[in-house]
Amino acid sequence: MVVPSSIGGSRVLLRKLREIMGTDEEAQVRLDRLVAMVASTMVADVCSIYLTRGAVHELFATQGLAPGAVHRTRLKEGEGLVGLVAETKQPLNIADAQHHERFAYRPETGEEPFNSFLGVPIVRSERVFGVLVVQNRVQRVYGEEEVEALQTIAMVLAEMVASGAFGDLSGLADVEARASRPESMQGRAFSDGIAIGTVVLHEPHAPLGRVIADDPVKEETRLDDALAQVRGALNDMLEGDPGRISGVSRDVLETFIMLASDPSWEQKLKHGVRAGLSADAAVERVRGEHRAKFNATRDQYLRERLHDFEDLDNRLLRALAGVDAGARTLPEDAILVARELGPAELLDYGERLKGVALEEGANTAHAAIVARALGIPMVGSLSRLLSRVEDGDPLVLDGESGEVRLRPEPQVITSYQERLSLRTARAAEFARLRHIPPVTQDGERMTLLLNAGLALDVHHLDDTGAEGIGLFRTEFQFMVSETLPRLESQTLLYRDVLEAAGSRPVTFRTLDLGSDKVLPYVAAEREENPALGWRAVRIGLDRPGLLRYQLRALIGAAAGRRLRVMFPLVTTVAEFDAARALLDREVAWKRDRGGKLPTLIEVGVMVEAPALAWSIPDLKGRADFISIGTNDLMQYFFAADRGNQRVSERYDILSAPALRFLKRIRDDADAAGLQVSICGEAAGRPLEAIAFAALGFRRLSMPASGIGPVKRLILSMDAREAATAMARMLRSDGPTIRPELTEFARIRGYAL
Ligand code: PEP
Ligand code: MG
Repeated sequence: MVVPSSIGGSRVLLRKLREIMGTDEEAQVRLDRLVAMVASTMVADVCSIYLTRGAVHELFATQGLAPGAVHRTRLKEGEGLVGLVAETKQPLNIADAQHHERFAYRPETGEEPFNSFLGVPIVRSERVFGVLVVQNRVQRVYGEEEVEALQTIAMVLAEMVASGAFGDLSGLADVEARASRPESMQGRAFSDGIAIGTVVLHEPHAPLGRVIADDPVKEETRLDDALAQVRGALNDMLEGDPGRISGVSRDVLETFIMLASDPSWEQKLKHGVRAGLSADAAVERVRGEHRAKFNATRDQYLRERLHDFEDLDNRLLRALAGVDAGARTLPEDAILVARELGPAELLDYGERLKGVALEEGANTAHAAIVARALGIPMVGSLSRLLSRVEDGDPLVLDGESGEVRLRPEPQVITSYQERLSLRTARAAEFARLRHIPPVTQDGERMTLLLNAGLALDVHHLDDTGAEGIGLFRTEFQFMVSETLPRLESQTLLYRDVLEAAGSRPVTFRTLDLGSDKVLPYVAAEREENPALGWRAVRIGLDRPGLLRYQLRALIGAAAGRRLRVMFPLVTTVAEFDAARALLDREVAWKRDRGGKLPTLIEVGVMVEAPALAWSIPDLKGRADFISIGTNDLMQYFFAADRGNQRVSERYDILSAPALRFLKRIRDDADAAGLQVSICGEAAGRPLEAIAFAALGFRRLSMPASGIGPVKRLILSMDAREAATAMARMLRSDGPTIRPELTEFARIRGYAL
């Protein structure tokens, strides 16, 4: 086996490949010629192509195995060495195949004499189309260059299959050249709404047909230019105005630049073009390797590095294609599909998107916040999404249930269109309720407030008729910024928000960072239990500089107006006192300088830590109000991570223990003369709102989408009657009272 151990050899191979693929012979004939050519060029005793039909890998062509096995030998998903290659999407290179634990013996192939085995996946954009195999009698491990040569052929094959280069694929009718069947996937809903549209892949893909280069010298120049462009842009970012560092920290950038100068990366890319691949295809191939390794490793450090490399590969592809992510033209009904998305990236696309579907979900919180603010439906945690879709595929995304339909049947589209118009009708109904005060049937006046976090959110006040902002999450500005927002930009944002709110009160919560809210430009120490770690007011008290700055910005922005401030995740009364002392100091500082102060300052605290929930009487005279953050309070109450899908929905806030706990907090707050509200996501759900109203809560702060449904519910319910029913349900010993409460509401005709 000598030929492909040189660049020239690979080039010969690619040229022959192009000749075969360029003819208009039948697909089967071309595949037969292909295996014969590869076997002879690579001096292999066997070359076979397995293509994946549904859940089986079928032998489609072979040189060296028994011809009768073609279309007869079928390996189930994961079966045999071929199944292993398809499963791992990695090459398998072994000297003694027959003794491998995954070897599956198929007598019809007559493969007994062959010992060494090299299989590579025929893969494109993470979709496995099949496996290309060479085998030899002698026991040997194939050289790195041989592996690469075979991978190159597999890649070309994948592109050919995907682009329909096999004509009408008559012989291959069942092979999924391009995923075409409708598929349904269940993810997690991150931003409400329904989108019916067309897939736009966030990460570019080398254009089809540009796999084999006409002129390798020209390709190398293209590659050099693109490399220089990417490196230049990264250096500019680092050396230029720090404000231009886009969403990535200096550390990350420096690592990037280091990686971008990694000679082995460049070597690999060059190797590809010198072997006859187009520059784009060479990058694609390397990206495929990075991805496969990424998927295979669990080591966090390695994963991060491989992810960085993949990012670099993407930048190179964009440079080669001459496209800039922000300036891309998008179809009118674009649904963005990505593995993961940063908040700044999403803002780049902005309102041009109809929806967003993400493969991952762990760190999507920031992008989800932006998506909600922009009113773009978003679904995440869609496993293997990228390997199932192509640019231009029709897609329906349900940001309410988390369901995603790929290439949906016409009736599915129709049914979603109906749901969409129903939602529009409901929205119109809610709009009519906008100016009606939320008063229960028995005359209890409720106050419905908005949770917000970006200037973009404030217009929801008018849209929904909310009476103010009950929770303004100030950390969002920090999370979507490229660098730490300065005093002026903080002041500006708070002033804008207060101005837009007019006479409606706004409760600003000071920075709630840490745990799931990390800043791209602040290197965070890894913690074993971030939710129980150094976060929120704990950071603020240990590093008072940041918190004092923020308080200064708030005081400045509210000059001549009312200011409401509250502190997140306070655990002890002493922490509250310390935080309040910082505020008092800032007020004194301003007063001493003759600055204009707010007309009224109200200070509150989030009740999120159970310890504080048991300290409410001690807050008397110290705080003006409390706001119960049920998202965190319930995570600590149930000892169940709110971000961990496995447990986050395991326990129910609508259960007697949780509701008794909330009632206790409300009673204590009443006794201490503290205004009390609930501001977790639960406040925006009608059934939960019945429970809260029944427990005596009158102020609820919620996401914009909750105001309409909750107001409609309030208008239909009777608070006294619900309180009586609730008193009974509080004695329940079951894990949830949800069914009971639903039934009660249904019988009483409440608008759920
Ligand atoms: C909460 O914990 O309920 C809350 C409102 O705060 P956040 O969701 O921002 O942690
Ligand atoms: Mg919280």
